[in-house]
Amino acid sequence: MYLNRNLKFLGLILLFISCKTSDEKEVKQTKPPNIIVILTDDQGYQDVGFNGSTDIKTPYLDELAKNGVKFTNAYVSYPVCGPSRAGLITGRYQDRFGFVRNPLFAPKDSLQGLPTSEQTLAEALKTKDYNTMAIGKWHLGAHESQRPLKRGFDEFFGFLSGGHKYFPEEYNRNDISEVNSQFDAYNTKLLKNNNRVEETEYLTDAFSREAVNFIEKRGNDKAPFFLYLAYNAPHAPLQATEKYLSRYPDIKDEKRKTFAAMVSAVDDGVGEILKSLRNSGIEEETLIIFLSDNGGDERKGANNGILNRGKGSVYEGGIRVPFAMQWKGKIPAGLVYENPIISLDIFATAVSLAKVEPEHEIDGKNVLPFLKEGNKATPHEKLYWKKFDAEAFAIRQGDFKLIKEKNQNLKLFNLTEDISETTNLNDSLQMKPLLENFNRWNKDNKNPLFLGLMQNKTYNELHPNRYDDVEKY
Ligand code: CA
Repeated sequence: MYLNRNLKFLGLILLFISCKTSDEKEVKQTKPPNIIVILTDDQGYQDVGFNGSTDIKTPYLDELAKNGVKFTNAYVSYPVCGPSRAGLITGRYQDRFGFVRNPLFAPKDSLQGLPTSEQTLAEALKTKDYNTMAIGKWHLGAHESQRPLKRGFDEFFGFLSGGHKYFPEEYNRNDISEVNSQFDAYNTKLLKNNNRVEETEYLTDAFSREAVNFIEKRGNDKAPFFLYLAYNAPHAPLQATEKYLSRYPDIKDEKRKTFAAMVSAVDDGVGEILKSLRNSGIEEETLIIFLSDNGGDERKGANNGILNRGKGSVYEGGIRVPFAMQWKGKIPAGLVYENPIISLDIFATAVSLAKVEPEHEIDGKNVLPFLKEGNKATPHEKLYWKKFDAEAFAIRQGDFKLIKEKNQNLKLFNLTEDISETTNLNDSLQMKPLLENFNRWNKDNKNPLFLGLMQNKTYNELHPNRYDDVEKY
């Protein structure tokens, strides 16, 4: 009798456990994935091991690419920081809304940044209750209305300007009331949400630390998370600690050596993030995307490999970037994907997974169906780039790319046969449809919304007191 009762009790416990497990399973199956976007700044196409770097070692980024998909024809929508980020975070060509210059650090100017009429990826994911955090460089507007916490992020750790110093002892400006020029913003104390904080670690390490903390805090919440981790490394100023410099005794060029060390710091961070996902048991529930915001500047230590030119150019060196994606068990491991994709696809892929209907028409595509075996379709028949001030543009259509630069004739290249864009095919008959397609796309594009970094002098003349009388924050 006693035994029988105990067996019944045991049965009830087992039933309870099995119900709980199947409930948990159901939650796991219906919950959209966590999404981590790791964005580096000015890292060249060949500045990662998985694209053939022989001097810089990136074991963790290589692991990420090996666990998932490496994209060899991945582009950003603009060859410098600000507009490229505006495209990435909205899933739309930034030309659609006039964000076509690098914004100035102008905290009193509500037009100097991403228009609030645009929907950010964080705002889109918030509609499905994602926990969201932005870490690192923002550069989408310093005005109160444009900061991360107003643009869909629950948390922020980083800085608002276009760049920053890396050693905390140089963060000698307490707040924006002590910022008197664009580059003063590089020396401000970091922001944790709305508060200035004292930092002690090398900047890249501090960003990695915050990323791991966020994953540990939110990884096993009922709601999924979105982490936008925008390292400013390896963007200038070239500054690295001995821990990373000592890994490169054989690189004699000082710039390259420091650049390599800065990339190593990012790579260590990626390693910590992968470890933390694994320890939290959520690696298979997390889509990780890694890319650089534009091509490298070879005068500042970067290496774009065989690609022509670099940062700032609509040639491949300015817009084709290292790009990899990992989602264990969900996307193929070790796949090398060669059809063109673009950073705008990150938004489209994420909202598709989260089942969010975007507020605006987007230009990106969900790339995941294209990664399935046997799918030979290409996500984009055409991709476009336009630099308003430089009077330059480019269109890629299949193997071909048409380029126009100021005061120069149109040029046509076959990227499949001539990845380095050295031989202008100069075939006007072949150029014509590409030019027509570009003009069709360009017809509704907007002129610049604001005076940018390149117009700093004019801006200062128009707004002589722009750094004065600002509220402390
Ligand atoms: Ca950049």
